[in-house]
Amino acid sequence: MSIVAVGSLAYDSIKTPFGERDRILGGSLTHFSNAAAFLSKPKLVGVVGEDFGPGEWDFLKRKSSAVDAVKVLNGEKSFFWKGYYTKDFDTAVTEVTELNAFAKFTPAVPDNYRAGDYILFLANIDPSMQLEVAKQCRNSKLIVLDTMNYWIKNTPASLDEAMKHVDGVIINEGEAELLSGGEKNMIRAAEKLFLPNFKILILKKGSHGVMIFGRDFLVTLPAFPVREVVDPTGAGDSFAGAFVSYIDSNGLYDFDRDGIKRAAAYATVVASFSVQGFGVEGIDNISPRDVDQRMKEFQSVASF
Ligand code: AMP
Repeated sequence: MSIVAVGSLAYDSIKTPFGERDRILGGSLTHFSNAAAFLSKPKLVGVVGEDFGPGEWDFLKRKSSAVDAVKVLNGEKSFFWKGYYTKDFDTAVTEVTELNAFAKFTPAVPDNYRAGDYILFLANIDPSMQLEVAKQCRNSKLIVLDTMNYWIKNTPASLDEAMKHVDGVIINEGEAELLSGGEKNMIRAAEKLFLPNFKILILKKGSHGVMIFGRDFLVTLPAFPVREVVDPTGAGDSFAGAFVSYIDSNGLYDFDRDGIKRAAAYATVVASFSVQGFGVEGIDNISPRDVDQRMKEFQSVASF
């Protein structure tokens, strides 16, 4: 089994109450792969500019099983995002979004990506690009989509269309509120957002954990409590990467409740490492043993 994933590959400038970093490696696909790689290295679809450095390429190659469909556009720069967090670490304030190479990119999924059973993950990027990739991957076993405020506000029609072609959606609380027309209660928001084609809707609540709605169940888990949050950028993508890799490596394609609960616990633990360092560092610096150890701690604090 395998994972094919499309999303942003970016340079990020980030400021948090803990400190700041300028032009570090980021992007939804980068954070997704960083977290997925422990269990199932994805095959990547994306685009970068000429400025994408050798260290960044090394990182992508370490965290994926194929980069054939990551294109370099001559004369273009890579996607750039600048944002900051105030004391409320749960919401990022976007200052700059430069699509750069992504504005001129048409994704093409190679045949070797589509061989055998695979999950398609549409990480946060232009929904028309997500839809294009979904159409090219009709033989995938499952399709899961992530998005964010930027696309909900700027490209609502293509996002609506893309959501009709997927089995699952993963968004955060603020995005669910926006997408549901201002619904603050997450049960009611989920009822509005759950399309007939969905098998699963994942609502991330930052430091308050996650709610996962299936067709006939609800799973809810707290976050793993971390003493010092350094940078929450990529926590959502990391949750998605760990979640999808757990589903893939355990063959949980039918999304049964108990399997989903285990996948959500694993993803919660991996995402908790992500917030403990800037950019990709929090997860890149740990080993599977660290994840196992924290899984045991999480089980003891969250089960009864
Ligand atoms: P997260 O904190 O998990 O929501 O994801 C943060 C990552 O999303 C950063 O590394 C950014 O580069 C990337 N990002 C920010 N805005 C966008 C956007 N409009 N489309 C795609 N990726 C984005």
